[in-house]
Amino acid sequence: MNVPLLDLKAQYRSIKADVDAAVAEVMESQHFILGPKVEQCEKAIARYCGCSHAVGVSSGTDALLACLMAENIGPGDEIITTPYTFFATAGAIARVGATPVFIDIDPTTYNLDPSRIQSKVTHRTRAIIPVHLYGQMADMDAVMWVADKYDLVVIEDAAQAIGAEHKGRRAGGVGRYGCLSFFPSKNLGAAGDGGMVVTNDGQRAEHLRRLRAHGSKPKYNHTIVGGNFRLDALQAAIILVKLSHLDAWTAARQGNAKRYDALFAESGLRVADTSMCVTTSSSQVILPHVATDRHIFNQYVIRVSRRDQLKAALDAKGVGTEVYYPVPLHLQECFSYLGCKGGAFPESETAAEETLALPIYPEVTRLQAHYVVDCIRDFFSTSA
Ligand SMILES: *Cc1c(COP(=O)(O)O)cnc(C)c1O
Repeated sequence: MNVPLLDLKAQYRSIKADVDAAVAEVMESQHFILGPKVEQCEKAIARYCGCSHAVGVSSGTDALLACLMAENIGPGDEIITTPYTFFATAGAIARVGATPVFIDIDPTTYNLDPSRIQSKVTHRTRAIIPVHLYGQMADMDAVMWVADKYDLVVIEDAAQAIGAEHKGRRAGGVGRYGCLSFFPSKNLGAAGDGGMVVTNDGQRAEHLRRLRAHGSKPKYNHTIVGGNFRLDALQAAIILVKLSHLDAWTAARQGNAKRYDALFAESGLRVADTSMCVTTSSSQVILPHVATDRHIFNQYVIRVSRRDQLKAALDAKGVGTEVYYPVPLHLQECFSYLGCKGGAFPESETAAEETLALPIYPEVTRLQAHYVVDCIRDFFSTSA
């Protein structure tokens, strides 16, 4: 049996007529850059995230970059974030000339541990970028408490968490800005790159609109230097079609996660979840713990010892998996100037060694999920 990590063709087959019609409509209009489709998409996404404004941009990476630029963050400024995330989070900080200051994660959720923020705040600290990793929100109550205390800007990296919710607030709608990505493998994926910033601040939304178009307003008049960070109409049209399916897809992902939980519990393997303070020496498979009211399961990530061997064994049996992320950012060569050594962030480093994402996309069938868990059980029973 074949179980890819993600099967976008299955999704496309189920919405092909609507997507093709939306693309054709944009082609007929020949209006490609910004325009009414993008505005319609912005309104719909703002509403979905519980925010009053949304600004379509060229990617999740550029969403982060534009927010940092909007806050005039640059050389000499320090931004607190997690080292256990996709590169773009810290890459955007470095690109504006600011310094990423890492803090370790909470191993229960893989999100930054807010109790570690305060000790890293200096007179140079300007912002915190919490990342809602794998589709589960970081502990925003605690993040906002420190941010308010020290007057820091909060930019949520919600690239993996559109629609995640806690205490009635959605990912991206808690801090000053929320950054979304429409990279194809995200839960709401475009046919290429795309992103959006959501915010409840109308003035800052206007500022972002100017920044995404070279800082011009009116046209050819530049009071600030921006970039080309625009979302295009083809992507907006496709995102609008897909948005109407997003809740159903999220429900399917959540159902698949529950199914995996149950299958692992019945598998005979020694199973725990990340909230149980266990290690991979006593438990064979450590399952994700849901600490958010609504976890959207962009990824379903387990922890195991001998992760790389398991990955290879699953590969050989047709099961696609991925490691998010094998090298924490403080150990990336490009950040060696920060002077962080191995061992600096032990929770992030062990997570990088032990985590493995399983196929969780909405169209994974019951039989496929069974097969994945059977293959994992076989790995442990034959190599124990
Ligand atoms: C995908 C992702 C990004 C970047 O989004 P792009 O649209 O690919 O530029 C940023 N942060 C996180 C956590 C992501 O997963």
